[in-house]
Amino acid sequence: MFSLLEKDAHPRFTTALLEWFAGAMRPLPWRQNYEPYAVWISEIMLQQTQMERAVRYFNAWMEQFPTLESVAAADEETVLKAWEGLGYYSRARKLRQAARELVDSYGGVFPEETERLKKLPGIGEYTAGAIASIAFNRPEPAVDANVERIFSRLYDIDAPIARAEVKSYIRKQARSLLPEGRARLFNQALMELGALICGKTPRCLICPVTDFCEALRLGKAASLPNKGAGKKYTYLEMATGLLMRNGRVFIQKRPDYGVWASLWEFPGGCLEEGESPEQGLLREFAEETELRVRITEKIGVVRHGYITNRVTLHGFFCKAEEGGEPHLHAASEGRWVSPSELADYAFPAGHRKLLERIGWKTAA
Ligand code: SF4
Repeated sequence: MFSLLEKDAHPRFTTALLEWFAGAMRPLPWRQNYEPYAVWISEIMLQQTQMERAVRYFNAWMEQFPTLESVAAADEETVLKAWEGLGYYSRARKLRQAARELVDSYGGVFPEETERLKKLPGIGEYTAGAIASIAFNRPEPAVDANVERIFSRLYDIDAPIARAEVKSYIRKQARSLLPEGRARLFNQALMELGALICGKTPRCLICPVTDFCEALRLGKAASLPNKGAGKKYTYLEMATGLLMRNGRVFIQKRPDYGVWASLWEFPGGCLEEGESPEQGLLREFAEETELRVRITEKIGVVRHGYITNRVTLHGFFCKAEEGGEPHLHAASEGRWVSPSELADYAFPAGHRKLLERIGWKTAA
């Protein structure tokens, strides 16, 4: 493979990138003092979340949980509520577990080595490299999808980016480029380049490293990386009901395993073949709560996605045909709450969107 980034070009590359970064660096809150706890929270939040949103949640999080110890001491419900709206709730659960482990087994002090960091819940190869380099300035690469995209172009890598040997090659190159004593800035500069310049549509005209980019030289920057076969989505149609009684609404807590573990929701589920949303709702209520309900009003339809699922969710208000409490078959706990109390509970995105639709706010 020909490359414009041979070993002797490394110093010029890093100088060009770091000089650009010095002027382009965004003033992010965790960049103030690179405190390991702040770097860790930012990295976990930024997985699957856009920067602007992550900054908003980061600032609110730091107010609520200013220290590692405060997360470790919080109950799961409180942590999930603070995470509400960010999605991928296992991140929040693992974050709390890791905080407890850090307090119990590490005396509240983050380990600096990637191998030890990777032993903590929720910290994989990338996050360990990011914490080690950004918080401790250790010479470790931090290769996420942004950085993979840049390298696929710099080195004109045609092979599918998801292949293990491609990932390993990129990590090796990222490590060999690390300038001595400047891993903190270098890794952040690469991430910033991926976010601001070498995005899905590369902005080569204003890129600081054009001299080193093989894909640009060949006129194929926009066609890389090779993502292989596209993602396959599963399309789901679901129905859910806000069961009302004396001004209160029934909510139930999902089991502590599986999708949306430990979040609160309204009874409901996926429609079966040939079922209308209304039929599906009545069946789901009977199965999940043993209650016969009737629909009093349709709230509307919201759409949302999680992992590779794309959900169309039909929402209804409903009432029970007879008295009696729900007998739970799909939840660990149930409660009748007033609309204003809903703000105390964390819901999956679809249910939260429904509540926003009727003006019952839940998001923090
Ligand atoms: S020249 Fe274009 S493709 Fe190459 S690194 Fe810069 S922005 Fe990305």
